[in-house]
Amino acid sequence: MTDPIDRANDTAQFSNELALQQHLIDHALPAQQIVDGVVECIDCDDAIPADRLAALPKCVRCISCQTMHEIRERQ
Ligand SMILES: [Zn+2]
Repeated sequence: MTDPIDRANDTAQFSNELALQQHLIDHALPAQQIVDGVVECIDCDDAIPADRLAALPKCVRCISCQTMHEIRERQ
């Protein structure tokens, strides 16, 4: 029979690995969604304003979706 503490450690390690993978997925810079030369927000499909793109050329979300995304990440 498996030692319950070993099993707990295995489970903890497994969830740490999952969390790390999720972290890497969350923090990998997603590719921009460009339709007809317009960079669209990957969350809401609205065009990202040119001034935002000028400030953050690799941004993939509009300001409101990015704000929501950052709030979700902090939870
Ligand atoms: Zn958006």
